[in-house]
Amino acid sequence: MDFVIAHKEPLLKSSLNFLMSQTQWLVLTGAGISSLSGIPTYRNSEGIWQRKSPVRYQEFLVNEMSRKQFWARNIAGWRFMSAAKPNDAHLALVQLEKMGLISGVVTQNVDGLHEKAGSRGVIDLHGRADTVLCLSCGDLQSRQFLQDLFKKHNPNFFNKIHRITPEADSRIDDLDFTSLIIPSCHLCGGLLKPDVVFYGDVVPRGRVNSCMDMMNASSGLLVVASSLQVFSGYRFCIWASNQGKPIVILCNGDTRADHLAVKKIRADCGPVLEHWMQLCKNRISVGKMGKLV
Ligand SMILES: [Zn+2]
Repeated sequence: MDFVIAHKEPLLKSSLNFLMSQTQWLVLTGAGISSLSGIPTYRNSEGIWQRKSPVRYQEFLVNEMSRKQFWARNIAGWRFMSAAKPNDAHLALVQLEKMGLISGVVTQNVDGLHEKAGSRGVIDLHGRADTVLCLSCGDLQSRQFLQDLFKKHNPNFFNKIHRITPEADSRIDDLDFTSLIIPSCHLCGGLLKPDVVFYGDVVPRGRVNSCMDMMNASSGLLVVASSLQVFSGYRFCIWASNQGKPIVILCNGDTRADHLAVKKIRADCGPVLEHWMQLCKNRISVGKMGKLV
């Protein structure tokens, strides 16, 4: 395996040439790509958990206080997630898709930033935070609509979270969230939950099958900014490896699949993706590679 320490090293050239040697890469993205848009990550560059534990799915279902704690954190975090904008890494992937270099994007992030940037073939592996699901009747509604309802029912709580930044969100747990009023489904009164896969929950089977189809139709796997600690992401590397397809990992820390990669680029993803995209554009403009579609 070639191992590139920083994006300016000569070995980067060989890694980028390798990426350009074939088309139809499936790209799997993780939290690191969203952190460039100001969304805090849950693990550091070594994949170590660095923030408070998330509420697990079973706990959310059976424990009202856990639900209130979850929503208190979620209400505070939504202010930043809903305002986040795609960054250069998201935008480079859009261009690479248009040039036919990548077959699609599977993201472990729930912020919808790939779609906001303009990527077309996106699978949100762990769901979308901007949608809320009723666990009884399956109705879907807008997360922003729910935020407005939360604000209407809990004005004092909103006053208290006003000055808390994303990095200091552990302070939310110090607030009194026990009296939080949580709206229920407007159709059936059922429990509402963001339409995302919680810890302890599983990715829906139909979505896993769509991912497998995408992997089958791709020539290789490029992992971007994920430590692959969660199995639902790591299994893409197992699939690619079993199919004899190359795996390239672009991540500024260790990952669970480093031993499976043919190339590992240890760098921040933004500059490397932009560099790759620019090289492809240049080659297309001098007629050495396919066409813009
Ligand atoms: Zn309902």
